[in-house]
Amino acid sequence: MTNAPASLRVTQLGARRTSQGAHDRAHAPAVAVPVTPYPDPIDWVAVPRSAQTTGARRVSVQPIRLFGDPVLRMAAQPVTVFDKELRTLVRDLSETMQAAPGAGLAAPQIGVSLRVFTYYVDGELGHLVNPDLSLTEDEQDGPEGCLSLPGLTYDCKRAYGVVAKGFNMYGDPVTIEGTQLLARCIQHETDHLDGIIFIDRLDAEQRKAAMKAIRDAEWAGQTVPQVRISPHGTFGRAL
Ligand SMILES: [Zn+2]
Repeated sequence: MTNAPASLRVTQLGARRTSQGAHDRAHAPAVAVPVTPYPDPIDWVAVPRSAQTTGARRVSVQPIRLFGDPVLRMAAQPVTVFDKELRTLVRDLSETMQAAPGAGLAAPQIGVSLRVFTYYVDGELGHLVNPDLSLTEDEQDGPEGCLSLPGLTYDCKRAYGVVAKGFNMYGDPVTIEGTQLLARCIQHETDHLDGIIFIDRLDAEQRKAAMKAIRDAEWAGQTVPQVRISPHGTFGRAL
């Protein structure tokens, strides 16, 4: 998912609750997950490629897999070892997400079939390992995009709120509770871990339009993963 400027956030694009009811939880602020601070995202325009690999700091931005890559249709495996390799994965995901820029990124999107995702919503950077979701009955409807489908955005119904239980990269149990964009992000990224892409959740007519747009997209049929520097920006809406 991509990180939007405030003016483009879902809540300000007309996200709508489609059922009514008292849901205190739906109005609760997101519970912060312990996060490790990361360096600022890499400015790929400003940093020459030679410097990206020769500097003191390892470059973590990875190619983002595009729709059509089989890894996006696989059920990702639960994480069982919380080691340095996992922490490196979380850093890679975080930096790749922020460089895109994105509001969320799941491990399969960089070719790693493990149940891990990162998010950057409302200024909060976080991650979750082995997520287990509880959804509110209330729904929201609003625009959604995906870093694996550059440039495409469609309205997608989601639960309005979510409670996500899982672990941080050190193996500590954590719970993330969120509504609106954070809830949308968590649902979108968890779908990725089950091989589900958001266009699967569109109604038949919109899905048909999406498939046509995908066929017509300049990146359609690319077999080699590309670092996404698309001329069609997602303006931070993709996930
Ligand atoms: Zn996505």
